[in-house]
Amino acid sequence: MRHIAIIGSGPAGYYTAEAAQKHWGDEVRVDVFDMLPVPYGLIRTGVAPDHQSIKGVSKRYEGTALSDNVRFVGNVHIGSDVTVPELQGLYDAVVLATGAPNDRPLDIPGSDLANVFGSAAFVGWYNGHPQFAGLAPDLSGQTAVVIGMGNVALDVARILSKTEGEFTGSDIVGHALYALMASKIRRVVIVGRRGPHQIMMTPKELGELGHLARAAPRVNPADLPELGEDALLEPGLRKSVTHIRSFAAIPESHFADVEVEIEFDFFAAPHALTGTREGGGQVEAIELERTAVQAGRAVGTGEFYSVPASLVVSCIGYQTSPIPDVPFDERAGKFANDEGRILPGLYCVGWARRGPSGTIGTNRPDGFSVIEKIAEDIGGGAGKRGREGFDELADKRDLDVVTFRDWKKIEAQEESRARAGAPREKFVDVGEMIRARRD
Ligand code: NAP
Repeated sequence: MRHIAIIGSGPAGYYTAEAAQKHWGDEVRVDVFDMLPVPYGLIRTGVAPDHQSIKGVSKRYEGTALSDNVRFVGNVHIGSDVTVPELQGLYDAVVLATGAPNDRPLDIPGSDLANVFGSAAFVGWYNGHPQFAGLAPDLSGQTAVVIGMGNVALDVARILSKTEGEFTGSDIVGHALYALMASKIRRVVIVGRRGPHQIMMTPKELGELGHLARAAPRVNPADLPELGEDALLEPGLRKSVTHIRSFAAIPESHFADVEVEIEFDFFAAPHALTGTREGGGQVEAIELERTAVQAGRAVGTGEFYSVPASLVVSCIGYQTSPIPDVPFDERAGKFANDEGRILPGLYCVGWARRGPSGTIGTNRPDGFSVIEKIAEDIGGGAGKRGREGFDELADKRDLDVVTFRDWKKIEAQEESRARAGAPREKFVDVGEMIRARRD
């Protein structure tokens, strides 16, 4: 028998559990840990609430979670409730699937002003992550600036622009929906330090901006490269650039009826945020430096300008949280690893291994590849105690472990209190989740 502990119940965690099951069948026991009492990580609190078809992948993880040899062990914090070396003593392999939950810092003056948020916090707010549910962004100003030209920037810009009707069928949490419906934001500026040929936005997600009820994208035709240069792009990026070109072709007359403009500001590097620090303080503007792209890099031109900004959301990527006793690559913001191997018996997978890139599905081959390495390393297992040993430790420490069956009770309550047309109304507080499990 092999005993495997997976830390993190998001896509990387459950794909790894699935791979372990496929590899060893009944000859493995897998415990999937999460610090929250609810599973699915990024699927629950990262994927946009209006992208329910992407969230549907959790049904697949449920299939894995419900099998006899896989357990969900929720509400256990690795590092404080139990340490990684302790788990290594109990399991043949410990796999860190903890994702990249922290914002890469926006290292410019003024980034500590009020109403400046990283995307982990802002996305966590509208998705009901307990850590960020109380964020309370001020949406009473006119212009929001979203920094970065990846899919997270698109999510944030779209969520800030939608009507109440467009959230029907989504699981956006009530506190965010009510705040967004009262929002006065009428201009969302997406700032990119490079040009249309360097965006990280994927075509399907970018195309959505062209079909919003009260909002429309605005692109300055002068920012477009020569049409012929698109031929050199890889097909996905070429499609995205085609969307950018179609946005640039929207006639000015169209904007007369548009309530929210989503403006693309290319070749614009964030230089500083300015605002007031009195009375709680607030961001008021972003200073940008015009850039030129040389050999793929953004180079400052020395021309500076300012855009008013009452809200700033920085969507410039994520970092993994370090864990005590685990080697960490500070520069890359992920665990130091060699193709998933960190130390003997300790592995990482998904964003914790390779950084925040790719789609949800990219994590599946990752999970299968780490299980192959574990199989090479641990053979038939070393007779460790696995879940039995952990249960003893949890009892001794009086840990309030949440099981998958408990989660199903929480889920049933979230479904029963949903708004009309919504799949669920999430609990956004750990205490509430625990109480829902007991009711
Ligand atoms: P991303 O795709 O890596 O995009 C980050 C953006 O931030 C880039 O445009 C980058 O510009 C910019 N940036 C980085 N550092 C900056 C700085 N210091 N100043 C200004 N701009 C800076 O990251 P992401 O949007 O966070 O997405 C993470 C992953 O999740 C991606 O793989 C994404 O596709 C995926 N995702 C997918 C979906 C979906 O499929 N629906 C939704 C959300 C996220 P440079 O290129 O110039 O560095």
